Amino acid sequence: MRYGIISDIHGNLEALEVVLRKLDGCDRWICLGDIVGYGPNPNECCERVRALNALCVQGNHDLAALGQYDLSWFNDWAAAAILWTQKQLTAANRAFLQNVPAMQVINDENFPFTLVHGSPRDPTEEYISSAQEADAIFERLTTPLCLVGHTHVAECYVRAKDALTCERRGMNAGGLIPLKKHHHYIINCGSVGQPRDRNPQTSCGLLDTQARRVEIFRLDYPIEATQRKMRAAGLPDLLWQRLEWGM
Ligand code: ZN
Repeated sequence: MRYGIISDIHGNLEALEVVLRKLDGCDRWICLGDIVGYGPNPNECCERVRALNALCVQGNHDLAALGQYDLSWFNDWAAAAILWTQKQLTAANRAFLQNVPAMQVINDENFPFTLVHGSPRDPTEEYISSAQEADAIFERLTTPLCLVGHTHVAECYVRAKDALTCERRGMNAGGLIPLKKHHHYIINCGSVGQPRDRNPQTSCGLLDTQARRVEIFRLDYPIEATQRKMRAAGLPDLLWQRLEWGM
């Protein structure tokens, strides 16, 4: 099976359309949460993802947009964007986000894997952003691969079966990750709509469980079009400025 992987779309329709074209033809879609929040097109992005019939998990911004997450965890700009998003979301898109699970284990016949926005220990909140943090998570995994989002950083943590620690590989230029036997992986394919790994290009991935590999793609998208919409919607300046910094 070839799974198209998207995560952290954050209402950025221009970026989403580019990755949907890139991964068109995959057998199944995976969406790792934060479909909304920050960006100017929350409804359109929800509708695109709904149409994919993707394997989805909930993100913290999705919960916040439903009023189910304490906004004091967010900085002022993120909170302002969530309050704006809450007013935009249609009843149908709220119902869709409401029914997405926090975590899923997919028993693919060739290579089973776990899907979660943050971490299996704390599905919507915990960030995995260092080898030390990843090591604590490997202990809890029941599958050889865990796909995560949340940090908006494309990267891979790999641990050999009997090793005590894992290695981190930055993937902000994209690239191929072979899934070797007797190795365990935590992979973040990066953010579609708000990359924070110093590369402003949109990010997505393709998991091929038969060929045993994950490929991460970085692609240009019309950033200025998204920025114009964000300014017109009155969203905080920093949120549209950061798109071109990739931070
Ligand atoms: Zn996010």
